[in-house]
Amino acid sequence: MNDSIGRKVDYLRISVTDRCNERCLYCLPEGYKGWEPREEHLTAEEITRIVKVAAGLGFRKFRLTGGEPLMRDDLPAIVCGLNSISGVEVIGLSTNGTRLAALAQPLRAAGVRTVNVSLDALDPGLYRQITGGDLAAVLAGIHAARAAGFERVKLNCVLMRGKSEPELWPLVLFAAEHGLPLRLIELMPLSRSDVLDERNFLPVGEVMRQLAKKDELIPQPDLREGHGPAKYYRLKHTGALVGFIGALTNQAFCENCNKVRLTSDGKLRPCLGDHLETDLKPALRPKINDTALQNLFETTLRLKPAAHSFRSNYQPLRIMTAIGG
Ligand code: SAM
Repeated sequence: MNDSIGRKVDYLRISVTDRCNERCLYCLPEGYKGWEPREEHLTAEEITRIVKVAAGLGFRKFRLTGGEPLMRDDLPAIVCGLNSISGVEVIGLSTNGTRLAALAQPLRAAGVRTVNVSLDALDPGLYRQITGGDLAAVLAGIHAARAAGFERVKLNCVLMRGKSEPELWPLVLFAAEHGLPLRLIELMPLSRSDVLDERNFLPVGEVMRQLAKKDELIPQPDLREGHGPAKYYRLKHTGALVGFIGALTNQAFCENCNKVRLTSDGKLRPCLGDHLETDLKPALRPKINDTALQNLFETTLRLKPAAHSFRSNYQPLRIMTAIGG
């Protein structure tokens, strides 16, 4: 499907839960109490139904995310269901990696093709400070993902001034050693406002200048790994492939956006950085025909904003974990 300004939209990111076993500073405000009641979460059957409709409308790529999608016990079953739908070409997964050591194999067998793992630091203490989690479990998850034979495993690091700088070079070396693309992501205003203070913001331009002191960055203009928004560079000596996601500083960031998001409580959100959402629940509970769902998709697509509103004093009414990253 094309949106109203001609962008081809064929990628649906599906949040299967708003729950997470980590507490990333930039994602989940401390003491957050806004959890959705579990009965509001879409069931596996509802997710399958929505994906069937989306695939019928031309969506081809689907990513399961959250919250932490591996918190959901029926995730392999959900993947199996999606994998059997005609038109579904790629099923990807975004995870913090903490449970991947045990689940990489079953998820690969169920049909997940690509995996993105969040990795903000390689220093265990700093990793815990940023995420509240255990780095050793994540590293075991990354190694399990590589062994499970996914077509692509990427690393995601959210940039925070005062935290990320000492980690950048170790992360680059880690990415190079294991042959994993590393994406460095600008902090977006999707958590508590004090976290998103200017003082915490580290622009990708500055990070590129820091890395350029260590190695030569060779642009890879033809490379859009998995059609994401990153601009990729190959580091000449280390060989690392590093993608820079300038969500805030790149004025052209939304020009090729091909995504729509589905929140775990059934809201279709055409833009991460805009409050507009369409509730699909009225077409799901009680179950009415698929035409109603199709119409909701089409209407939402027509309303997809040309660009996010992050630069316009955007207030995170719904935080990242509740939208699905
Ligand atoms: N728990 C899974 C994970 O860690 O990938 C899936 C959900 S998480 C919200 C998806 C991605 O969003 C992660 O790469 C995370 O680092 C990123 N993210 C979360 N909050 C962000 C923020 N405020 N700015 C930029 N990226 C953010």
